[in-house]
Order: sequence, then C-alpha cells, then structure tokens
Amino acid sequence: MSHHPSMTRAEILRSDRENLWHPFADMARWEREDPPVIGSGEGVWLTDMNGHRMLDGTASLWVNLLGHRRPELDRALLDQAGLIAHSTFLGATHEGAVLLGEKLLSLAPPGLSRVFYSDNGSTAVEIAMKLAFLAAKHRAKKRGQSPPSRFLSLERGYHGDTLGAVGAGAIERFHAVFGPLVRPSITAPAPDCAHCPLGLVRPGCDLACADVAVDRIRAHRDELVAVLVEPLLQAAGGMIVWPKGYLARLAQGARSEGILFVADEVATGFGRTGTLFACEQEGVIPDLLVVGKALTGGYLPLAATLCTERIYRAVREDPGTFYHGHSYTANPLACRVALATLEVLEREKLLASIPEKRARIEREWGPLSRHPGVRNIRTLGLVAAFDLRPPSPGSAFANGGAALLEWTRRIGERTRERGLLIRPLGPTLYLIPALSATVEECGIMARILRETVESALSTSP
Ligand SMILES: *Cc1c(COP(=O)(O)O)cnc(C)c1O
Repeated sequence: MSHHPSMTRAEILRSDRENLWHPFADMARWEREDPPVIGSGEGVWLTDMNGHRMLDGTASLWVNLLGHRRPELDRALLDQAGLIAHSTFLGATHEGAVLLGEKLLSLAPPGLSRVFYSDNGSTAVEIAMKLAFLAAKHRAKKRGQSPPSRFLSLERGYHGDTLGAVGAGAIERFHAVFGPLVRPSITAPAPDCAHCPLGLVRPGCDLACADVAVDRIRAHRDELVAVLVEPLLQAAGGMIVWPKGYLARLAQGARSEGILFVADEVATGFGRTGTLFACEQEGVIPDLLVVGKALTGGYLPLAATLCTERIYRAVREDPGTFYHGHSYTANPLACRVALATLEVLEREKLLASIPEKRARIEREWGPLSRHPGVRNIRTLGLVAAFDLRPPSPGSAFANGGAALLEWTRRIGERTRERGLLIRPLGPTLYLIPALSATVEECGIMARILRETVESALSTSP
C-alpha cells in the first residue's frame, strides 16, 4: 500500500508557515524561506516534492543508520503492526522489549545489566540523571551525609532539550536563555584541541585538560552526583573530537573519587565513532549508558538508559519504585524496528566498512587541508567535519559571528541545489552519512561539499 500526498508542495508550505513551529528555527526567517518538502527517501537519498534528489548528508540529523526504506526494517514494522502497535508498559510487558533488552545488554560494555526504556535522547538523559541521583543519595544516606545534587559536565556539551538535560548542557546559543530555569552543572573545559582551553600546543600537552577536569571532580566531590559527558565526540557542540586518552583519564578520575560516570551515547552509539559504543575505544565501562537516535535506524522514537546492577539494587531498596515513565515507554513497533536495526548492523558488518568510507571522504577533502579558508579538518568513525574561517582579516567575516553563520547557511543552500542536504553547525560543516552509504556515495557527498566550499571561498567578500 502506498500513500499519495493529496496536497501540492505550495499548499504544504503555506499551511506549514501558518500553523507550525519548527525546532531550532528562527521562525521569522523560516516564514520567508523555501525549505525542502520531503516526499520520499531510498537508501541515503531523499527526494523532495519537486522531484529533486539529495543525499542525506546528516543521516537525518544523526539518526539514520541503514538508509531510508530499509526492507528489513519496513518488514519488522509491518509485522508488529499486524499484532499490535502499542500497549502500555506500566504493569505489562511484551516480547519485543524483552528481546531488545537482551540484545542491548549483550552488546553494551560489561557490567551494565538493566535497561530502562524511554522515547527520546533527552528523556533518557533525564532518567540517567535521576537514577544516578537516587543511587548517590542512597550511598550518602548510608554514610550519614546529605545527598549530592550537582553534575559535572563539559563546556559546549549537549544532552538534550528537557530542563534537566539543559542544565547539564553548556552551549551558549542554545542554553543561556533558560539559565534561570535550570540547575546548572559544574563544568570543565571541552577538550577541543583546535581551541585548546589551556592554550597548549600538541603534541606535548600531556592531556592537561583532563587533569583540569579531574581536579574539578576532586574539588566538588561532596556535591557531585555524577560526571555526565558525550564520550569521544561532542556533536552538537561543534563536532569536537576528543584527543586520545581524555575519555579514559576522565572516567578514571571519576572512579577514583567514587563518582558515577554517565556516558551519553545518544549521538555516538551504534557505530558512529567506528566502534559500537564510543566508550569501548578507551576501555571505559560507564555506570550508566544512554542511547537513542540511531537505535531504531532512524525510523521511530526510542531511547534507553542502561545501568549497573549496583544502581538497580540501590534504587530497588530505596525508594523501591522509580517514579518515572512515559506513555510510549517501550513502544512495540519501535522495539521491533530496533531489533531489526541491530541485526542488519551486525549481519552486514557495517562497522568494518567504516575506515574505507572515511578514507574516501578524507581523500576527497585533501585539497581543503591546504585551503586558507578551511581549518581543523577532523574525522572519527563515520563523522567528518571542518570549520570555515574568514577568508581575509579585513573581510566582512573577520569578527566571526552572524556574518560567518549566514555564510555557512548559504553554503548549505548551495549544496542542496547540487544534491546534498546538510545542516551547518555555526562555522562547522560536517558529514554524517548513514553507515550503509556506499564508498561511492560518501565520495559524492564529500565532493559536493568540497566544491561548494571552494567556490564560496573564491567568491566571498
Ligand atoms: C541528540 C542528543 C540528545 C537528545 O536526544 P533527543 O532524542 O533529540 O531528545 C542527547 N544527547 C546527545 C549527545 C545528543 O546528541
């Protein structure tokens, strides 16, 4: 059965502008813009309602793992729909949730032994924060201490848009306006070598930034519930790739102070950084692991918070009941699609295919590394990014800010015309292809972006 739209493109846009409100959108601008109206997708290609085909350069904002209209995923969805679409997980269970739970625990770092479902990354982070708090409170009570109530997270960190997650986030542009509403984390500098927080030069810095973070853990240990970070890659903060060893040292620092370590792998989980979970690359075993985004291959909203048996037992003892749940907790359609996603990921050995795809992007971007307008080309797993810098000191972009952002936005419009849909993050341009993208498709994405940037840099004011 196939669905044929009954509205024209113009009608859809008119109604959208009149009635809807878009996330992370300057709506005054949106009302004037001519955004893509997506009609369908296949593999890593999207087709808009003008029939214009575009490569999905962000994997639909980091969720799409195996391409669009994946037959195995479509089948899993339809099979489950033939049984039941949803029934509550409060007071009942079902096979899909159980099978997926077993699967997640078998894949996750050892020591994680319980799965709590939710339906998006932000709420899965909130759940991790609440569980960490309950476990830390339990421990403080046993020691006759008052419960800790702060988290330590990183500058330019992003953990979602619900208020607990906003408190743990530290991206000025997203989070500053909500300051009065949230309890902010204690922060440590982001380990961003391109803008080293300590002004050091690599090599030879010896990860002094990790020592700063660990010192901060030590200084605040009595107030801290947990350390909450995005391991290896701070995606929303500007595709910041951590220097090797930072993650292990930070986790070790938390451990030696007896502070829980929460890995927010909502963006990094399921292969994005080259291993199934980013934590694996530095042998880190978190106390809580948060997953979402790619869990269902980009099909349906589903997230999960995994924790150790120790945390589970602490909360089971006191308060006994975890008062948290959502209407769509463990939605059966989403669980079945997630299972199918993990099966395909394994069967097609997609992790093993990443280095070749990344190498193709790197090769395609080779000329950019010598371009004065491009800086800090970085790759990790199947993530590739670079920053634009003002073409000349006297140019309109010299002081960065609004003009530079406007410029990257326009580059995004041009790549779209040329068949590549991207979404710049401030001065950062990046590609996050579905892991199922072919080497060839990765090459085309990289080439379109390179050529567009080269031509924009040659004609910029
Ligand atoms: C996207 C993201 C979230 C929030 O997930 P949503 O499903 O958008 O609520 C949380 N943490 C990280 C690291 C993310 O990238």
